[in-house]
Parts: sequence; C-alpha cells; structure tokens
Amino acid sequence: MTARATPRVLTAATAALLALGGLSACSDGDGGGGKDPGRVDVVAAFYPLQFLTERIGGDRVVVGNLTKPGAEPHDLELNPRQVGQVVDAELIVYLTGFQPAVDEAVEQNGGDRAFDVAGVAPLLDAAAGDHEHEGEAGHEGEAGHEEGGGKDPHLWLDPTRLATVGDRLAERLGAVDPGHAADYTARAGALRAELTKLDTEYAEGLRTCQRREIVTSHTAFGYLAEHYKLEQIGITGLTPESEPSPQRLAEVAREAREHQAGTIFFETLVSPKVAETIAREVGAKTAVLDPIEGPPAEGDYLSAMRANLQTLRTALDCS
Ligand SMILES: [Zn+2]
Ligand SMILES: [Zn+2]
Repeated sequence: MTARATPRVLTAATAALLALGGLSACSDGDGGGGKDPGRVDVVAAFYPLQFLTERIGGDRVVVGNLTKPGAEPHDLELNPRQVGQVVDAELIVYLTGFQPAVDEAVEQNGGDRAFDVAGVAPLLDAAAGDHEHEGEAGHEGEAGHEEGGGKDPHLWLDPTRLATVGDRLAERLGAVDPGHAADYTARAGALRAELTKLDTEYAEGLRTCQRREIVTSHTAFGYLAEHYKLEQIGITGLTPESEPSPQRLAEVAREAREHQAGTIFFETLVSPKVAETIAREVGAKTAVLDPIEGPPAEGDYLSAMRANLQTLRTALDCS
C-alpha cells in the first residue's frame, strides 16, 4: 500500500516543482528543467550548436545540450535519460560524423525532427588545411588520416560557415514554429553580422605574420587554417583520443623545428601531455588554442574565438 502511495506523492511534488520551474525558466532560460509548452524544445548535440540555437531561437526555445560541460564530445556516450531527450525534443541539432552515439540515437529515434548541420554545406576533406611541402605528397603521415578520405566535422571554427548554418537553422526553426519565423530570421541576421565582424578581425589579425604553421594537439583547426591561410600540423588525428605513434611525434618535432614554431598548442578538454613532450623537445612554449568543442570557462563562442585569435597572433608573431 505504502509502496504504491509513495510514487504518487512524489509525482505530485515533482509536478509542482516542474510548474514552478516553468515559471522561473522564462527569465533564466537554462533549459535544464522540464518542458515549457509555450516554447520549442530543442536538444543540441554539443556546445557550438547549443550556442547557435540559443542565439537564433532566443526566448522562443529551450535548448538542452547532450554533452555536459567539461566532457570531450567526440566520444560522447548517451545514457537512457539523454536518449529520452532525443526522443522528446521537437528539434534535434546535431552533426553527423562527429559523435557516433548521437548519430545512432537520431537514426533510431529522431524521425523527421533532426537538423543535420553537416548537410548545410559540403564538408572539407579530413586533410584540408594540413601542412604539406611543395612536391612532397602527404608527409603528414598516418596519424592525421586514419579516417581515410573522411570528412572534417569541425566546421564551427570558420565563423562564415557557422553563419550559413545559422541561416539554415533559422529556416528550420521557422518551419517548426511558423508563428515566429520572422524572429528567427532576424536573429540569424544579427548573429551573421557578429560573425562577419569576427571574420574580419581574423582576416586582418592574421594577414601579416612571421609564420603560418600551427602545431595543434588534435586536427581540429582545418576550417580555420583553410579560411585564414594557416597550415595545420596536427599531432593526432581528427579525434583527440588517438595516440600518436613515435614516428608521428618525431615528425611533428622535426616540422616544429624546421618552421621555428615557438608555441605548441594544446586544448582545454584533453591532456596537454603530448603537446608538452614535443614543446620540451624542440624548446617551444605551450599555449591553449581552444577548439571550442565544449563551453568556454567564461564567455561564449565569440569571446573564445577572439581569445584564440590573440593566442595565434602572439604565437605566429603577427604585426
Ligand atoms: Zn575535435
Ligand atoms: Zn613543413
């Protein structure tokens, strides 16, 4: 008897809490609580897509994020509650080929509610922006290319691409919530203006630099390198967890010396050990270059991109 009564009490209490949470969510908009029937319930697969959806959705959407802050998103695994988020969401914003567990959950449960960011514009090949010498075919070696002809998912590191994704996302949100389609379009336009300004800052800030080679921890900066004419020497491949071979480490160290790289970059969500090893070997410093795969410790995508720009300008001696 008590065993049957207890859940009902809890259910009533939970319902009351959810009702209260729904009221307060109008002002704090953290998206962590229950459903709000007045707003579009969206789940984003990882931080840059959450940022994009919140900026374009504004107060019309509640956005959840499948990747918890501090977690490395490439190897995300979904628990049943997170699969439930995918099942329940009115719109799922994700990027095929980036997080296999999310791809699978969307395939099984996403129906026609999924918006695939990878489908907006053709992705770059995995090797795009990689560093190669004239007449020397693919000396980047095995580590950067184990995906063999794969596509590079890290498109958010080119702000002009992110703006285009934003325009398409606004159209999709407008289809889900036609009464506010004009609002989504307007917010996407405002974000595009901010991203265009960021793009200009990058183009000008990186126009005249002593060096253009960036030695990065994993090969996350292909879009950035391609757009701003830098050359990426990635220590590991497209996913951070792949261990570089001793040959790869030796090759990166040789490249770093040859191009007088004074800085080896590491990132926030993975161990800096390998970058530190190479830096020690070639007498370089280390610095954080954030691939923005998770939320920055402070600020947002835009401020993290600007911090990256300052880091690059210092490391590459840009005037
Ligand atoms: Zn990555
Ligand atoms: Zn080289």
